[in-house]
Amino acid sequence: MRTIIEPFRIKSVEPIEMSTPEQRARWLAEVGYNLFRLPADRVLIDLLTDSGTSAMSAAQWGAMMVGDESYAGARSWYRFEETVRRVFGFPHVVPTHQGRAAERILFGCTVKRGDIVPNNGHFDTTRANIEYLAGEAIDLPCAEAADPTTDEPFKGNMDVQALEKLLVDRADAVPMVMLTITNNTGGGQPVSMANIHAVAEVARRYGKPLYLDACRFAENAWFIKQREDGYADVPVPQVVREMFSHADGCTMSAKKDALVNIGGFLCTRDPSLAAREKDLLILTEGFPTYGGLAGRDLEAIAVGLDEVLAEDYLRYRNVSIAYVVNHLHDAGVPVLRPAGGHAVYLDAGRFLPHVPALQYPGQSLAVELYRHAGIRGVEIGTVMAGRDPATGTERPAPLELVRLAIPRRVYTQSHMDYVVEAIVEVFQRRESLPGYRISDEPPFLRHFSATFAPL
Ligand SMILES: *Cc1c(COP(=O)(O)O)cnc(C)c1O
Repeated sequence: MRTIIEPFRIKSVEPIEMSTPEQRARWLAEVGYNLFRLPADRVLIDLLTDSGTSAMSAAQWGAMMVGDESYAGARSWYRFEETVRRVFGFPHVVPTHQGRAAERILFGCTVKRGDIVPNNGHFDTTRANIEYLAGEAIDLPCAEAADPTTDEPFKGNMDVQALEKLLVDRADAVPMVMLTITNNTGGGQPVSMANIHAVAEVARRYGKPLYLDACRFAENAWFIKQREDGYADVPVPQVVREMFSHADGCTMSAKKDALVNIGGFLCTRDPSLAAREKDLLILTEGFPTYGGLAGRDLEAIAVGLDEVLAEDYLRYRNVSIAYVVNHLHDAGVPVLRPAGGHAVYLDAGRFLPHVPALQYPGQSLAVELYRHAGIRGVEIGTVMAGRDPATGTERPAPLELVRLAIPRRVYTQSHMDYVVEAIVEVFQRRESLPGYRISDEPPFLRHFSATFAPL
């Protein structure tokens, strides 16, 4: 069969409140054309993020009912710890309420003023947690990552030569090397096993631990199985174990590839580091057998970590995103390629060449997708990254993108067909889309709360 079906049926549904373009035009004006300010029930298809938006399975809901809420040593903790150890292979597991808490605790124990942490692509909270400690977060993406139009299989890779050069020059200042799998800021592009291995080898030669930012570890493993020589017949759990066998630890947001709405953890092989992490954990997150989570959350994560490794699930997930990307590409719509693991990225710079960067083409496109069809995505371009925090001046971002992140197990094929149709319709009358100006902006992270006006 050519049709790949959703490998689940639906037991519990959440109604979508339908609305018209006229209603949505009014709501847009009310919130100053900022989609973050919209109440979610005014959205038909919400593609703002894939973080914490997964649908849980009946097995996860069932496990939540037997969650053990004991303060210390809960049964749910032991189930969670056993699952994380088995899936990732690390001896020490520290639970946290989400990924950034794991980052804060790891860096709080390892990064000091002036330190440098290299990564293929730091996620924004990872970068912010390093910078908060007066460290420097350096991105070393591979050269292929720069071209959004080529079909290279592993655009998430790190530039290994650049890493080696950094370590030759500044090894003393580097407390650890990190790899983000998949590379979220680089478009959800995967890192190959060969690259993980090569990065680990360089790090080891300089005596540096390698940490994986593991948020989308299962999606990355699926890409390795599909695209890298020698992995086609290796079961996904074994690919995962091999990926993490090269690392000394990881940080994880369970809001992504653990198929839950809240949670996270960090792992290490170093017993003394684990002890220091747990001391800090008690101060801000909670006792080391719950770390800011309820027992029921630990249960849902334990079940989700096994469900996410099911090949039927990963095939459906991967194919449904590639389906949107390929249909858009065939219709001539400029879209980042190849399809990443968790999102579709429209290239608004090429979509709206008549709108200059400082009139925010990504914002214009995101607003029109909502007005036209009730689809909520997010601008990743000059609105998000154009204000230089050092000088206060504004300059164009390298790319003007609109990210449509696909929540896990939430939308069906017909929802994706609707998304494709809406984007193609907007593309056909793209010349009519206006630029925007910012009417009001806060001093930092302006994309969350700024207001806009069409020009
Ligand atoms: C989401 C994310 C984080 C942070 O996790 P939160 O649970 O949102 O705190 C860190 N790294 C990457 C790659 C992410 O996608």
